Amino acid sequence: MQNFRIGFGYDVHRFAEGRKLILGGVEIPSEKGLLGHSDADALLHAITDALLGALALGDIGKHFPDTSAENKNRESSDFLKYAYELVKQNGYELGNIDATVVTEKPKLLPYVEQIRKNIAGVLDVKVEQISIKATTSEKMGFVGEGEGLKVYAVALVEKGTE
Ligand code: MG
Repeated sequence: MQNFRIGFGYDVHRFAEGRKLILGGVEIPSEKGLLGHSDADALLHAITDALLGALALGDIGKHFPDTSAENKNRESSDFLKYAYELVKQNGYELGNIDATVVTEKPKLLPYVEQIRKNIAGVLDVKVEQISIKATTSEKMGFVGEGEGLKVYAVALVEKGTE
């Protein structure tokens, strides 16, 4: 197997009233939250898919079906930890993650450092290995209309030394 492998993840969730907005495991004050079977943390879902993708291990839906009762309202950090365990079991460790959240509201910049720290803590890696960025959709399309948000993420993994 190669020394380095890269994975890509993408996720979309719809905004809904009466739901908490949780991104990167951090609760963010918002009028609306994201709809989903789990805690709907689109950021952690995209990163989980990027890690699984790096080793061609399928996607989050394959490992955690949304038809399964045990995944209902489940914390997405469980999915992320599981994906990284698989990466490590396959002899790889994280190089770095870079993710972009696309949303009109709320402004995420004030929470970015907290999100980075939280994700680094879940994976037990350095904060410098986790990059989180935020942008808007310039009021265009479903993100621009505030219907939902989307996240893109890439993860680089490196073959471990042992
Ligand atoms: Mg999702």
